[in-house]
Amino acid sequence: MQTSSSHLETRAVHGGMAGVRESGSHVPVIDFSTTNPLGSVETGGLSYEELATGHDLGEGRSAVYQRLWQPGVARFEESLAGLEGTEGAVAFASGMAALAATLIATASAGRPHIVAVRPLYGGTDHVLASGLLGTEVTWADVSEIREAIRPDTGLVVVETPANPTLELVDLRAIADAAGDVPLLVDNTFATPVLQRPVEHGATLVLHSATKYLGGHGDVMGGVVAANREWVERLRQVRALTGGLLHPMAAYLLHRGLRTLPLRVRAQQASAQIVAERLLTHPAVARVHYPGLPGQDPAGLIGTQMEGPGSIIAIELAGGYDAAARFTESCELITHAVSLGGVDSLVQHPASLTHRPVAGEAKPGAGIVRLAIGLEHVDDLTSDLMAALDAAAELVGLDDDAATPSMTVEAG
Ligand SMILES: *Cc1c(COP(=O)(O)O)cnc(C)c1O
Repeated sequence: MQTSSSHLETRAVHGGMAGVRESGSHVPVIDFSTTNPLGSVETGGLSYEELATGHDLGEGRSAVYQRLWQPGVARFEESLAGLEGTEGAVAFASGMAALAATLIATASAGRPHIVAVRPLYGGTDHVLASGLLGTEVTWADVSEIREAIRPDTGLVVVETPANPTLELVDLRAIADAAGDVPLLVDNTFATPVLQRPVEHGATLVLHSATKYLGGHGDVMGGVVAANREWVERLRQVRALTGGLLHPMAAYLLHRGLRTLPLRVRAQQASAQIVAERLLTHPAVARVHYPGLPGQDPAGLIGTQMEGPGSIIAIELAGGYDAAARFTESCELITHAVSLGGVDSLVQHPASLTHRPVAGEAKPGAGIVRLAIGLEHVDDLTSDLMAALDAAAELVGLDDDAATPSMTVEAG
């Protein structure tokens, strides 16, 4: 049984499993019902009333309709909330559906102004910059947040480690600057294994569950972990806008959480080795990885984060051409967007995930993003070194040709 005092690894395995053993099963049964028997007319009506206003499914009540309550989704939510240390969580069809529901809840409460710290995931940047959901954004550096906040500011949005450049942001400093305004942290890259933002002052924790939480590249989902008040508001938005997680997806995400600590730590151990080896290649101008010397100036690893994670950004000395040749030359590592799965992926953010981002905030053309998986680290290194050789050859770089200006960049 899950207890709040148990360790994270134990909670990952046993979270959201209440009642399963008693039902005679070893794992939860997937319930595909779109509608549910209502009992008496009075019970049915009360059940509807409670769920439509964002409350939990009560004892003896009906789940009514899948858009209001789904038992497998609730299991995944309970387990994730147990890992993030929040009162609850609300799951959606994707990370973007989770973000959209949060922005709608914020704007509809009469506080449509958002203060956001770049860089952010490309889709998040795009939805905020476009004002599509009725919000208005002010982009701010960490030092500008306090000044940017207005009486109608409903949310401060930040991502750490940042996508794709892996800078770490001090959440406590941002939460202090945000004051009474709720802080939303996109915790997709870190996962609750490496970072639990509510411990550092965040109110809302967002995940693209499509990435590490699912962990196998075969299920889309999103989730927001938060306090009870926000959980009720987000459930109401979900019930009205319908960005639901499918029962099968909920099952796979719940199962994914059980191995999350193991996967995250194994991928991180490989990423540290890969990042160090990448530094030795002349085609590499810079490696962005918080586990490398000098890349965590605020000392957040060990305090805010357990470790640097398993995403690496490589800046190729030969710019766009070298980045493209490198990306296309990886063989074991698949050229594809996304991250957090068992297999390693490589992609060119400026062309793909960050394509809609405005000019000044777009990542450099020579940057590629690498998501390290569970393959053996030596096999990953061989693939990467061969691809770097191909990139070096294309732009006429070899060991002798590498000049200091190409191999060293401050910070
Ligand atoms: C992928 C991603 C998202 C969007 O999530 P989807 O599940 O693709 O909708 C948001 N934030 C980050 C950091 C991501 O990597």
